[in-house]
Amino acid sequence: MLIGIDFDNSLVPSCTLWEEWMFNEFGIDLKGEHFNENKYSDDKYLDWWKNPNLYDDMSPYPDAVKYVNQLSDDGHKIWIVTKCFDEHIDSKMRFCDKYFNIDRFLNTSFKKADSLDGVLNLMIDDRSVILEEFKITKCFQLNTTVEEPGKFELLSWEQIYERIRKPRSKQYG
Ligand SMILES: [Mg+2]
Repeated sequence: MLIGIDFDNSLVPSCTLWEEWMFNEFGIDLKGEHFNENKYSDDKYLDWWKNPNLYDDMSPYPDAVKYVNQLSDDGHKIWIVTKCFDEHIDSKMRFCDKYFNIDRFLNTSFKKADSLDGVLNLMIDDRSVILEEFKITKCFQLNTTVEEPGKFELLSWEQIYERIRKPRSKQYG
């Protein structure tokens, strides 16, 4: 299976760390909201993301490391599908190299997209707004980010792994 996986707050709690920084720096409490560069488009809010060493000292979610690499060992192709700032892309790729066995790193603003829907067999992301754009590709939503209840069941990495390993529908049999 070809599996697309989001990066921020799916593999590493970067959005959560940014939210903490937003609160400490500006007193803005983003709890329940999310990284939204349209709403927080001012450079002063986005500077944090433009650190060229942004991910170098972050730690991944342990279960993400365990199960993503297990999926790779099981023979699935893993594509990281993530929107990057030019300033931090090298750091993000270093992070992937350090912790994950992946087949492709895809820097895209248009995940939803046109080009990925139906190409990926499965997309895993922490945000429903991203997943809802996919019409053909099957989607799993991670429980790593607090969101309003959406159309997707919130799943842990372990639960996602189990569903891939023991498919419930013929489609993945
Ligand atoms: Mg994310």
